[in-house]
Order: sequence, then structure tokens, then C-alpha cells
Amino acid sequence: MKSRGLVVGVALLGILMQTASAPAAPQPIKVAASIFPLADIVRQIGGKRVTVTTLLPAGASEHTFEPSASQIRQVADASLYVRVGAGLDGWADKLIASARQRPLTVTVTATNGIRLLAVAEQQLHPENGGDADHHDGDDPHVWLDPILVRDHLLPAVTDALSQLSPADASYFKTNSKNYALALTRLDQELRSSIDKLPRKGFIAMHGAWAYLAKRYGLTQVAAVEPFPGKEPSARYLVQLVSIARKQGVTTIFAEPQLPAKGAQVIAAEIGGRVLLLDPLGGEGVAGRDSYLGLMRHNLATITGGMR
Ligand SMILES: [Zn+2]
Repeated sequence: MKSRGLVVGVALLGILMQTASAPAAPQPIKVAASIFPLADIVRQIGGKRVTVTTLLPAGASEHTFEPSASQIRQVADASLYVRVGAGLDGWADKLIASARQRPLTVTVTATNGIRLLAVAEQQLHPENGGDADHHDGDDPHVWLDPILVRDHLLPAVTDALSQLSPADASYFKTNSKNYALALTRLDQELRSSIDKLPRKGFIAMHGAWAYLAKRYGLTQVAAVEPFPGKEPSARYLVQLVSIARKQGVTTIFAEPQLPAKGAQVIAAEIGGRVLLLDPLGGEGVAGRDSYLGLMRHNLATITGGMR
């Protein structure tokens, strides 16, 4: 009896020791990100230790998107949620809130700690109804400035991942350092190319580019759709044409996620041209399926178009 108990005990001990000496690979951290650029940045830092779900599908606008009930399943067990904040991705907040059975472990908000610019187009849209539900006066498009990403979002994501998986903290830190260097190189490319441009003013499809413009000395003169998804009135377009003429603007940047009609109307009036800038990119969108690729694609459009 006694020896049999001992044998079982030794066998059990063996199993326990085996488990202790060769632990199963830990599960990756499940992350939900509201828009693709944030998802890609989390992947750059989290590497093989994260699985990231992007809530906004490629091709949808961050301002007009309505998530579907089936998306709730994708995020129910996320332990990190990364969002823009400043009123941009309330739809994602709602999705996360209804998906969670227990409170989220960690949320990272990209606009936190940044002195936000005011939405610049206020004076131009009285006839559009004054519905400011998307922006609330603060411009949320901080991810389109790689220096803001490097100095604010990168450390916040690195901290959050390290908090969720302390054993991987040095791995995350190394990835974060390397990615910060890549962002610095991107910044240098943007600066040196944009510096050389003879024209600095442009009309945007929606007011997404103020941080980029401020960083590199461009001027986002106005937006075709100050409230994305709301078609501009004829009167507003007439105003834009007169502003464009006054300021010598010949470049209108449309965007893949919004209809380009308004932009084409203005361009035809002023003899300018419509080029495509993309604030979001996305999974499987050729050349724009990483944050760095997206920004370089936009840089090529800006330098090609604003000569
Ligand atoms: Zn936007």
C-alpha cells in the first residue's frame, strides 16, 4: 500500500516537474485596435507575442463606420484595446463595451498626452448644420504625424504590452526601439522631400492632415467634407473654389474611403487636380498594408502632386 502510494507520488512529481521545466508557450496577447495604422504599430512592437484584430475594415471611413454584431465575437476576449480617442472611434468604444463580459484589462488612447489641434474648418461650415459629433472641436488625426506616434503612442503601447506580459518586457522594448528608429527615418524622408516642394497649400478631402501639415510645413487650407460622410453643399463648394483661387491652391487630395465627387467639382473649377491620400491603409491594400508603407505612399503622392 505504502510503496504504491509512493510510486504514484513520484509519478505525479515527475509530471509536475515536466510541466515546470517545459512550460507550454504562453498564449499571445489578444489586442483589438480601432483602425489599421494602430493595429500595425501594435504588431511592430508585440511581434509574435500578440494577435491583433482591426475593427475598421479596409475601405471604410473612420467617421461613418457602423460595426456589425458579428464583430463582437472577434473582440470579446481581447485584453488590450488601442483606440484614437478624441471622439473619433466612439463606434469602437461601443463595440468593445458590448463585447466584454468583464472589464478590459488595458486601454491605450493615441490622443492621450498630446496637445490636440482644434478642428480648423469651423468657420467654413455653418451651412452644413454645425453637427460636430465626430470631432467635438479636437482634431483626432494624430497618427498621421510619425513623430507623435514615436513619442506618445509607441511608449504607451510598449508599457501596456509589458504590463500584460512582464516576461516579454525586454522583447517589446527592443522592438519598440527599432521601430522608433524606423519612424525617425520616415520623419527625415518626409521632411527632406516636403522641404523641396514649391507649393505647400492643399485642400483635403476631410480634415485628416493638420498634424502632418504642421510637422512638415504644409498648409491644409480647407476640407471638402468638414463632416466626413456629409456631402458638401453647392454653396460651400463655391466658397472653397474662391479660397483655392485666392491662395493659389491647385491640389485637392481625395481619399479612398470617401466619394471624390466634391473634390472633382472643385478641381474642375480651378483647373487643379485630384490626387488620392490615404489616412488608413489596411490589411491586403497593396503598398499601404503597413503604417510605414502607408506614410511613404502618401509622401510619394504629395511630392508627385505638389510640384
Ligand atoms: Zn478622419
